[in-house]
Amino acid sequence: MANVMVVPSCNTSLRQGSVLVDSLRRWNNLDRDLRDIPNINGFKTRFKSHWPTSYKPYMGGSRIAGVHHTRMRLGFSQLNRDLYLRGCEASPICSQCQSGLDETYAHYLLKCSKYDLARSVLIFSSLDSEGHPTSVNQFDDEALVHLLLKGLVGEDNLTNVRLFRSVHTYISSTKRF
Ligand SMILES: [Zn+2]
Repeated sequence: MANVMVVPSCNTSLRQGSVLVDSLRRWNNLDRDLRDIPNINGFKTRFKSHWPTSYKPYMGGSRIAGVHHTRMRLGFSQLNRDLYLRGCEASPICSQCQSGLDETYAHYLLKCSKYDLARSVLIFSSLDSEGHPTSVNQFDDEALVHLLLKGLVGEDNLTNVRLFRSVHTYISSTKRF
């Protein structure tokens, strides 16, 4: 086949997941007409229309808060627990309150007493959205964190846009980062 790259053989799953091998495999899986485009600008234009676009509710809103929201969603936040796990902080304990608890996503978003005022705005503006069957009471902490970071599965974009905007407002108002 034309424009197909040779993928080196790999014996380990780590090597199979490497950027090089994964990129070559993805390239080979593109449609032939996409691989055959002779210039980079033409390729980029066609690729963008060919590939799924970013999930819209994640876009927009506060840029800085959006960055921190994304970092939490990906597990690379600047909260003490994540920093500790990456060897960048001596302790995972929250330094913003006296609880002595790890500064996890649940602690930051749902529990830390320093952000009680900001949190009341977050919860009510997020979950009491017109007519949707969402209530704080139906979620445990883990599910609520998932909701705040990744949205409601199966809900329309508008609901998740509203949800994420309120998370951005919360992140900004806590001034944690
Ligand atoms: Zn705290």
